[in-house]
Amino acid sequence: MSNLTLVDRYDRNLNYLRVSITDRCNLKCLYCMPRELIPKLSHREILSYEEILRVVKVGAALGISKIRITGGEPLVRKGVYRFLSQLTRMEGLQDISLTTNAVLLKDNISKIRSVNIKRINVSLDTLNKAKFKHITGYDFFDQIWEGIHLARKMGFYPIKINVVPLKGINDDELVDIAGLSIKYPFHIRFIEYMPMGSSQISSDRHLLAPEIKERIHRLGKLIPVDRSLNDGPAERFKLESAQGEIGFIRPISQHFCSTCNRLRLTASGQLRPCLMSDDQEDLKSLLRQGCSDAEIAKGFLNAVRRKPSEHKLIDDDHARISSQMCAIGG
Ligand code: SAM
Ligand code: SF4
Repeated sequence: MSNLTLVDRYDRNLNYLRVSITDRCNLKCLYCMPRELIPKLSHREILSYEEILRVVKVGAALGISKIRITGGEPLVRKGVYRFLSQLTRMEGLQDISLTTNAVLLKDNISKIRSVNIKRINVSLDTLNKAKFKHITGYDFFDQIWEGIHLARKMGFYPIKINVVPLKGINDDELVDIAGLSIKYPFHIRFIEYMPMGSSQISSDRHLLAPEIKERIHRLGKLIPVDRSLNDGPAERFKLESAQGEIGFIRPISQHFCSTCNRLRLTASGQLRPCLMSDDQEDLKSLLRQGCSDAEIAKGFLNAVRRKPSEHKLIDDDHARISSQMCAIGG
Protein backbone atom coordinates (compact mmCIF):
# COMPACT_ATOMS: atom_id res chain seq x y z
CA MET A 1 0.00 0.00 0.00
CA SER A 2 2.94 2.32 0.74
CA ASN A 3 3.53 3.38 -2.89
CA LEU A 4 -0.07 4.61 -3.22
CA THR A 5 -0.74 8.24 -2.35
CA LEU A 6 -3.71 10.51 -1.99
CA VAL A 7 -2.70 13.09 -4.61
CA ASP A 8 -5.63 13.99 -6.84
CA ARG A 9 -5.89 14.91 -10.55
CA TYR A 10 -5.26 18.57 -9.70
CA ASP A 11 -2.10 17.80 -7.74
CA ARG A 12 -3.66 18.38 -4.33
CA ASN A 13 -2.27 16.20 -1.55
CA LEU A 14 -5.27 15.05 0.47
CA ASN A 15 -3.73 14.50 3.89
CA TYR A 16 -6.64 15.72 6.03
CA LEU A 17 -9.62 13.53 6.98
CA ARG A 18 -12.61 15.00 8.81
CA VAL A 19 -14.58 12.30 10.59
CA SER A 20 -18.20 12.74 11.67
CA ILE A 21 -18.87 10.20 14.43
CA THR A 22 -22.59 10.93 14.84
CA ASP A 23 -25.41 12.83 13.16
CA ARG A 24 -27.04 13.47 16.53
CA CYS A 25 -26.78 16.77 18.33
CA ASN A 26 -27.89 18.45 21.54
CA LEU A 27 -28.53 21.76 19.68
CA LYS A 28 -30.58 22.69 16.62
CA CYS A 29 -28.72 25.60 15.06
CA LEU A 30 -30.86 27.52 12.57
CA TYR A 31 -28.26 27.22 9.81
CA CYS A 32 -27.57 23.52 10.29
CA MET A 33 -30.88 21.79 11.00
CA PRO A 34 -34.59 22.25 10.47
CA ARG A 35 -36.56 22.91 13.68
CA GLU A 36 -38.81 19.92 13.09
CA LEU A 37 -37.49 16.48 13.92
CA ILE A 38 -35.52 14.83 11.15
CA PRO A 39 -34.94 11.08 11.14
CA LYS A 40 -31.65 10.15 12.76
CA LEU A 41 -29.43 7.26 11.81
CA SER A 42 -29.84 4.18 13.97
CA HIS A 43 -26.91 2.74 15.90
CA ARG A 44 -26.55 0.05 13.25
CA GLU A 45 -26.45 2.62 10.45
CA ILE A 46 -23.49 4.57 11.81
CA LEU A 47 -19.95 3.24 11.72
CA SER A 48 -18.79 1.61 14.93
CA TYR A 49 -15.67 3.04 16.55
CA GLU A 50 -13.77 -0.07 15.46
CA GLU A 51 -14.81 0.55 11.86
CA ILE A 52 -13.82 4.22 12.03
CA LEU A 53 -10.42 3.34 13.52
CA ARG A 54 -9.85 0.81 10.76
CA VAL A 55 -10.66 3.36 8.04
CA VAL A 56 -8.40 5.95 9.69
CA LYS A 57 -5.57 3.42 9.97
CA VAL A 58 -5.76 2.62 6.26
CA GLY A 59 -5.97 6.36 5.51
CA ALA A 60 -2.90 7.00 7.67
CA ALA A 61 -0.95 4.36 5.73
CA LEU A 62 -1.87 6.24 2.54
CA GLY A 63 -0.72 9.61 3.89
CA ILE A 64 -3.55 11.03 6.01
CA SER A 65 -1.78 12.83 8.87
CA LYS A 66 -4.42 15.22 10.12
CA ILE A 67 -7.79 14.18 11.62
CA ARG A 68 -10.65 16.28 12.92
CA ILE A 69 -13.44 14.61 14.87
CA THR A 70 -16.79 16.25 14.35
CA GLY A 71 -20.51 15.46 14.09
CA GLY A 72 -23.44 16.21 14.83
CA GLU A 73 -22.09 16.82 18.25
CA PRO A 74 -19.22 14.39 18.81
CA LEU A 75 -19.31 14.64 22.61
CA VAL A 76 -22.84 13.18 22.77
CA ARG A 77 -21.76 9.81 21.40
CA LYS A 78 -21.32 7.16 24.09
CA GLY A 79 -17.75 5.91 24.44
CA VAL A 80 -16.23 8.93 22.69
CA TYR A 81 -13.34 9.40 25.15
CA ARG A 82 -12.16 5.81 24.85
CA PHE A 83 -12.38 6.15 21.07
CA LEU A 84 -10.37 9.41 21.16
CA SER A 85 -7.68 7.81 23.30
CA GLN A 86 -7.34 4.97 20.77
CA LEU A 87 -7.19 7.48 17.95
CA THR A 88 -4.53 9.67 19.53
CA ARG A 89 -2.35 6.60 20.09
CA MET A 90 -2.51 5.56 16.44
CA GLU A 91 0.77 5.70 14.52
CA GLY A 92 1.21 8.09 11.61
CA LEU A 93 -1.18 10.81 12.73
CA GLN A 94 0.36 14.18 13.57
CA ASP A 95 -2.60 16.39 14.31
CA ILE A 96 -5.87 15.30 15.91
CA SER A 97 -8.47 17.88 16.84
CA LEU A 98 -12.11 18.13 17.79
CA THR A 99 -14.98 20.40 16.74
CA THR A 100 -17.67 20.79 19.37
CA ASN A 101 -20.58 23.04 20.25
CA ALA A 102 -19.08 23.07 23.77
CA VAL A 103 -22.34 22.26 25.57
CA LEU A 104 -20.53 19.36 27.28
CA LEU A 105 -17.09 20.96 27.38
CA LYS A 106 -17.07 22.28 30.95
CA ASP A 107 -17.88 18.91 32.49
CA ASN A 108 -15.57 16.90 30.26
CA ILE A 109 -12.56 19.10 29.67
CA SER A 110 -10.26 16.98 31.87
CA LYS A 111 -11.26 13.85 29.96
CA ILE A 112 -10.56 15.61 26.67
CA ARG A 113 -7.13 16.59 27.89
CA SER A 114 -6.40 13.17 29.32
CA VAL A 115 -7.00 11.53 25.91
CA ASN A 116 -4.41 13.91 24.48
CA ILE A 117 -6.58 16.21 22.39
CA LYS A 118 -4.85 19.59 22.46
CA ARG A 119 -6.76 21.58 19.88
CA ILE A 120 -10.47 22.28 19.82
CA ASN A 121 -12.79 24.29 17.60
CA VAL A 122 -15.90 25.59 19.25
CA SER A 123 -19.00 26.91 17.49
CA LEU A 124 -20.48 30.05 18.99
CA ASP A 125 -22.48 32.52 16.93
CA THR A 126 -23.47 35.09 19.53
CA LEU A 127 -22.44 36.54 22.88
CA ASN A 128 -26.02 37.20 23.82
CA LYS A 129 -27.89 34.60 25.89
CA ALA A 130 -31.34 35.25 24.42
CA LYS A 131 -30.01 35.21 20.90
CA PHE A 132 -28.13 32.00 21.62
CA LYS A 133 -31.45 30.41 22.51
CA HIS A 134 -33.00 31.76 19.33
CA ILE A 135 -30.17 30.39 17.15
CA THR A 136 -29.73 27.00 18.80
CA GLY A 137 -33.11 26.34 20.40
CA TYR A 138 -31.53 25.86 23.84
CA ASP A 139 -30.46 27.88 26.85
CA PHE A 140 -26.85 26.69 27.21
CA PHE A 141 -24.91 29.93 26.68
CA ASP A 142 -23.45 30.22 30.19
CA GLN A 143 -22.11 26.68 30.39
CA ILE A 144 -20.57 27.01 26.93
CA TRP A 145 -18.89 30.28 27.82
CA GLU A 146 -17.53 28.75 31.04
CA GLY A 147 -16.33 25.69 29.13
CA ILE A 148 -14.44 27.79 26.59
CA HIS A 149 -12.66 29.76 29.31
CA LEU A 150 -11.87 26.64 31.29
CA ALA A 151 -10.28 25.16 28.17
CA ARG A 152 -8.26 28.36 27.70
CA LYS A 153 -7.04 28.30 31.30
CA MET A 154 -6.08 24.64 30.94
CA GLY A 155 -3.83 25.54 28.02
CA PHE A 156 -5.78 24.37 24.97
CA TYR A 157 -4.33 26.37 22.09
CA PRO A 158 -5.42 27.65 19.72
CA ILE A 159 -9.10 27.61 20.57
CA LYS A 160 -10.85 28.43 17.32
CA ILE A 161 -14.32 29.91 17.61
CA ASN A 162 -16.46 29.22 14.53
CA VAL A 163 -19.11 31.81 13.74
CA VAL A 164 -21.67 31.67 10.92
CA PRO A 165 -22.63 35.33 10.29
CA LEU A 166 -26.24 35.86 9.25
CA LYS A 167 -28.06 39.08 8.42
CA GLY A 168 -30.63 40.12 10.99
CA ILE A 169 -29.54 37.33 13.32
CA ASN A 170 -26.03 37.99 14.61
CA ASP A 171 -24.61 40.61 12.22
CA ASP A 172 -25.00 43.32 14.88
CA GLU A 173 -22.44 41.44 17.02
CA LEU A 174 -19.67 40.77 14.53
CA VAL A 175 -17.48 43.58 15.88
CA ASP A 176 -17.85 42.34 19.47
CA ILE A 177 -17.15 38.76 18.45
CA ALA A 178 -14.08 39.77 16.40
CA GLY A 179 -12.99 41.87 19.40
CA LEU A 180 -12.67 38.69 21.49
CA SER A 181 -9.43 38.08 19.59
CA ILE A 182 -7.95 41.22 21.17
CA LYS A 183 -8.67 40.27 24.77
CA TYR A 184 -8.13 36.49 24.49
CA PRO A 185 -5.86 34.26 22.40
CA PHE A 186 -8.88 32.96 20.50
CA HIS A 187 -8.88 32.46 16.75
CA ILE A 188 -12.25 33.71 15.52
CA ARG A 189 -13.32 32.07 12.27
CA PHE A 190 -16.17 33.63 10.30
CA ILE A 191 -17.63 30.92 8.06
CA GLU A 192 -19.90 31.89 5.18
CA TYR A 193 -23.21 30.09 5.31
CA MET A 194 -23.41 27.12 2.92
CA PRO A 195 -26.81 26.00 1.62
CA MET A 196 -26.95 22.35 2.66
CA GLY A 197 -29.77 20.00 3.56
CA SER A 198 -32.83 21.64 5.04
CA SER A 199 -31.87 24.51 7.32
CA GLN A 200 -33.94 27.44 8.54
CA ILE A 201 -32.00 30.08 6.62
CA SER A 202 -33.36 31.97 3.62
CA SER A 203 -31.07 33.52 1.02
CA ASP A 204 -31.69 37.07 2.26
CA ARG A 205 -29.79 36.15 5.46
CA HIS A 206 -26.53 35.36 3.66
CA LEU A 207 -23.60 37.56 4.62
CA LEU A 208 -20.28 37.30 2.79
CA ALA A 209 -16.74 37.93 3.94
CA PRO A 210 -16.16 41.31 2.21
CA GLU A 211 -19.07 42.83 4.12
CA ILE A 212 -18.00 41.21 7.40
CA LYS A 213 -14.49 42.60 6.93
CA GLU A 214 -15.86 46.05 6.26
CA ARG A 215 -17.81 45.96 9.51
CA ILE A 216 -14.96 44.78 11.70
CA HIS A 217 -12.55 47.33 10.22
CA ARG A 218 -13.88 49.53 13.01
CA LEU A 219 -11.56 47.60 15.32
CA GLY A 220 -8.47 48.49 13.28
CA LYS A 221 -6.47 47.23 10.34
CA LEU A 222 -6.61 43.51 9.57
CA ILE A 223 -2.97 42.47 9.25
CA PRO A 224 -2.51 39.30 7.13
CA VAL A 225 -0.93 36.32 8.90
CA ASP A 226 1.49 34.18 6.87
CA ARG A 227 0.01 30.87 5.84
CA SER A 228 1.75 27.71 6.96
CA LEU A 229 1.89 24.45 5.01
CA ASN A 230 -0.86 22.67 6.97
CA ASP A 231 -3.24 25.64 6.99
CA GLY A 232 -6.87 25.09 6.16
CA PRO A 233 -8.81 27.28 3.77
CA ALA A 234 -9.10 30.22 6.17
CA GLU A 235 -7.75 33.64 5.21
CA ARG A 236 -5.99 34.66 8.41
CA PHE A 237 -5.56 38.12 9.92
CA LYS A 238 -4.59 39.74 13.19
CA LEU A 239 -5.64 43.03 14.68
CA GLU A 240 -2.82 45.16 16.01
CA SER A 241 -1.85 44.13 19.56
CA ALA A 242 -4.37 41.28 19.52
CA GLN A 243 -3.58 38.02 21.29
CA GLY A 244 -5.60 35.97 18.83
CA GLU A 245 -6.55 35.98 15.16
CA ILE A 246 -9.49 36.56 12.88
CA GLY A 247 -10.09 34.25 9.93
CA PHE A 248 -12.55 34.01 7.08
CA ILE A 249 -13.68 30.77 5.50
CA ARG A 250 -15.14 31.82 2.18
CA PRO A 251 -16.71 28.90 0.31
CA ILE A 252 -19.12 31.28 -1.44
CA SER A 253 -17.35 34.60 -2.02
CA GLN A 254 -14.03 33.07 -3.07
CA HIS A 255 -13.10 29.62 -4.25
CA PHE A 256 -10.56 28.05 -1.92
CA CYS A 257 -10.85 24.72 -3.70
CA SER A 258 -7.40 24.86 -5.30
CA THR A 259 -5.84 24.49 -1.83
CA CYS A 260 -8.34 21.95 -0.48
CA ASN A 261 -6.57 19.03 1.21
CA ARG A 262 -9.68 17.37 2.71
CA LEU A 263 -11.67 14.19 2.55
CA ARG A 264 -14.66 13.55 4.79
CA LEU A 265 -15.93 10.37 6.40
CA THR A 266 -19.62 10.71 7.25
CA ALA A 267 -21.31 9.17 10.26
CA SER A 268 -22.86 6.59 7.93
CA GLY A 269 -19.50 5.52 6.53
CA GLN A 270 -19.46 7.42 3.23
CA LEU A 271 -16.17 8.90 2.09
CA ARG A 272 -16.88 12.28 0.48
CA PRO A 273 -14.35 13.88 -1.85
CA CYS A 274 -16.01 17.31 -1.53
CA LEU A 275 -18.19 18.83 1.20
CA MET A 276 -20.31 20.58 -1.38
CA SER A 277 -21.08 17.67 -3.65
CA ASP A 278 -23.27 14.67 -2.87
CA ASP A 279 -20.84 12.28 -4.57
CA GLN A 280 -19.50 9.71 -2.12
CA GLU A 281 -17.75 6.35 -1.85
CA ASP A 282 -19.57 3.74 0.22
CA LEU A 283 -16.97 2.41 2.69
CA LYS A 284 -19.59 1.08 5.11
CA SER A 285 -20.86 -1.53 2.65
CA LEU A 286 -17.29 -2.60 1.96
CA LEU A 287 -16.52 -2.89 5.68
CA ARG A 288 -19.65 -4.90 6.36
CA GLN A 289 -18.94 -7.29 3.52
CA GLY A 290 -15.70 -8.22 5.29
CA CYS A 291 -13.35 -6.36 2.93
CA SER A 292 -9.57 -6.31 3.14
CA ASP A 293 -7.50 -3.22 4.00
CA ALA A 294 -6.47 -3.09 0.33
CA GLU A 295 -10.13 -2.71 -0.64
CA ILE A 296 -10.60 0.17 1.83
CA ALA A 297 -7.47 1.76 0.32
CA LYS A 298 -9.05 1.37 -3.11
CA GLY A 299 -12.13 3.18 -1.76
CA PHE A 300 -9.88 6.08 -0.71
CA LEU A 301 -8.23 6.16 -4.13
CA ASN A 302 -11.63 6.14 -5.89
CA ALA A 303 -12.76 9.12 -3.80
CA VAL A 304 -9.51 10.96 -4.51
CA ARG A 305 -9.86 10.28 -8.23
CA ARG A 306 -13.36 11.76 -8.21
CA LYS A 307 -12.57 14.91 -6.22
CA PRO A 308 -13.82 17.82 -8.33
CA SER A 309 -11.52 20.74 -9.14
CA GLU A 310 -14.01 23.06 -7.43
CA HIS A 311 -17.53 23.11 -6.06
CA LYS A 312 -20.48 24.56 -7.99
CA LEU A 313 -22.18 26.70 -5.35
CA ILE A 314 -20.59 29.93 -6.62
CA ASP A 315 -21.70 29.61 -10.24
CA ASP A 316 -25.19 28.36 -9.51
CA ASP A 317 -27.27 30.62 -7.24
CA HIS A 318 -29.85 27.92 -6.68
CA ALA A 319 -27.48 25.05 -6.05
CA ARG A 320 -28.06 23.23 -2.78
CA ILE A 321 -26.44 20.11 -1.37
CA SER A 322 -29.06 17.61 -0.28
CA SER A 323 -27.10 16.06 2.62
CA GLN A 324 -27.52 17.54 6.08
CA MET A 325 -24.41 19.30 7.44
CA CYS A 326 -24.79 17.47 10.76
CA ALA A 327 -24.24 14.09 9.06
CA ILE A 328 -21.09 15.27 7.29
CA GLY A 329 -19.54 17.38 10.00
CA GLY A 330 -18.74 20.67 8.26
N1 SAM B 1 -21.60 20.19 16.56
C1 SAM B 1 -20.27 20.63 16.35
C2 SAM B 1 -20.21 22.14 16.24
O1 SAM B 1 -21.23 22.77 16.03
O2 SAM B 1 -19.10 22.65 16.38
C3 SAM B 1 -19.60 20.00 15.15
C4 SAM B 1 -20.42 19.79 13.91
S1 SAM B 1 -20.90 21.29 13.04
C5 SAM B 1 -21.76 20.61 11.67
C6 SAM B 1 -19.34 21.81 12.36
C7 SAM B 1 -19.30 23.24 11.91
O3 SAM B 1 -20.16 23.40 10.80
C8 SAM B 1 -19.74 24.26 12.94
O4 SAM B 1 -18.70 25.18 13.15
C9 SAM B 1 -20.92 24.95 12.33
O5 SAM B 1 -20.96 26.31 12.63
C10 SAM B 1 -20.69 24.70 10.84
N2 SAM B 1 -21.91 24.72 10.04
C11 SAM B 1 -23.03 24.00 10.21
N3 SAM B 1 -23.93 24.26 9.25
C12 SAM B 1 -23.36 25.18 8.44
C13 SAM B 1 -23.77 25.85 7.24
N4 SAM B 1 -24.94 25.59 6.68
N5 SAM B 1 -22.90 26.71 6.67
C14 SAM B 1 -21.69 26.95 7.21
N6 SAM B 1 -21.24 26.35 8.31
C15 SAM B 1 -22.07 25.48 8.93
FE1 SF4 C 1 -25.43 20.75 16.23
FE2 SF4 C 1 -23.11 21.71 15.39
FE3 SF4 C 1 -25.19 21.57 13.73
FE4 SF4 C 1 -25.25 23.31 15.70
S1 SF4 C 1 -23.79 23.29 14.00
S2 SF4 C 1 -26.91 21.91 15.14
S3 SF4 C 1 -24.19 22.28 17.26
S4 SF4 C 1 -24.13 19.87 14.61
